[in-house]
Amino acid sequence: MFESGEVSLRSERHNADRRAAADRVKATRDREADAARRRQGCHDAELAAVDAGAALTLELRMQIWHIVDLAAADPPMELRYASRGTWTAELLGARNGVSLGRQHIVVDQPITGPASAAGVLHEIGHQRDKTRTTSRLIESEVTAWRYAMKHALVWDVNCLSLMRWALGTYIVPAKLKGKKIGGAQIRDAADVYNADVLCSEDTFNNNKRAIEPAALEAFEARVFRQEHGRHFCEHRMCRDSSAVAVARVGGAFVCRSCKPHAIVDEHIRRRARLSDPAQIAADNAVFAEYKRQRAQRGRA
Ligand SMILES: [Zn+2]
Ligand SMILES: [Zn+2]
Repeated sequence: MFESGEVSLRSERHNADRRAAADRVKATRDREADAARRRQGCHDAELAAVDAGAALTLELRMQIWHIVDLAAADPPMELRYASRGTWTAELLGARNGVSLGRQHIVVDQPITGPASAAGVLHEIGHQRDKTRTTSRLIESEVTAWRYAMKHALVWDVNCLSLMRWALGTYIVPAKLKGKKIGGAQIRDAADVYNADVLCSEDTFNNNKRAIEPAALEAFEARVFRQEHGRHFCEHRMCRDSSAVAVARVGGAFVCRSCKPHAIVDEHIRRRARLSDPAQIAADNAVFAEYKRQRAQRGRA
C-alpha cells in the first residue's frame, strides 16, 4: 500500500512538472505570436503611411507603434487603412473612419501625422467604451474623443480641428437633397455641452502635448533592438554595462554616448588599414587580377 501510494504521488508530481513545462512553452509561443502580430501591425501601418505620401520620421513611427500597442491590448482589434484609389477610401471619404465593434476591426485613414493618429485613437476609443449606448450618439462620440485625447502622444491644433469637425457632423444638422438629416436634439443638451467643453481652448491648453526628446530616444532604442535583435553597447570603452545600443558603427552595436567615439575609432582603423603595407599589397593584387581579366576580355 505504502509503495503504490508513493509511486502515485511521484507520478502526480511528475505530471504536474510536465504540465508546468507545457504551460511555459505555450506562454512563450503566445508571447512570440503576439510580438509577431504587433510587428506586422506596425509594418502595415508604416507602409500605409508611406503610400499616403508621409515621411516616416521617428516621431511618426513612435505614434504608429503606440497605436498598434493600444489596439493589441485585451481584447485585441485589427487596424485597417484605406489606401488611395480603393473602394474603401471612396466609401470612407477623406476624413472619416469607422469602428466595427462586433468584428473587432477599425477601418480608418492611414496614420500620417498627429491628426490622423487622433482619428484612429478615436475609433479605438469606441471599442474600449464599455458604457456605449446607441440611444446617446453624441455622448458616445464625446467619450471616444476623450479617449483619443488622453492616449495621444501628440495633441496639437490639427487634432483639435479634426475633433471639432467630427463632433460637428453629429451636432450640426446637415442637408441632404434638400432634406434635413441628423443634428442634436434639445434632450442632447448635456452631451452637447460636454462636446463644447472638450473642444474649448482651456481643455486644449491643458492637454496639448508633444513627444519628449527622452521618450523619443527610448523609442529609438526599442526600434533598434527590434530590428537588430541586440541589446547592449559593444564599444570597448563603454563604462555603462546597461547602456542600450542605438547605432551600428563599423560592425559594432554602440550606445548613444559611445557613438561619436566609435565613429572616430572606425575612422582611425580605416586609415590604418589603408596605410598598412600588407593591405596595400593585397589591394594591388586585386587590381592586377582585375586588369588581367579585362585585358583577356578585350582580346576575346
Ligand atoms: Zn466616433
Ligand atoms: Zn556605450
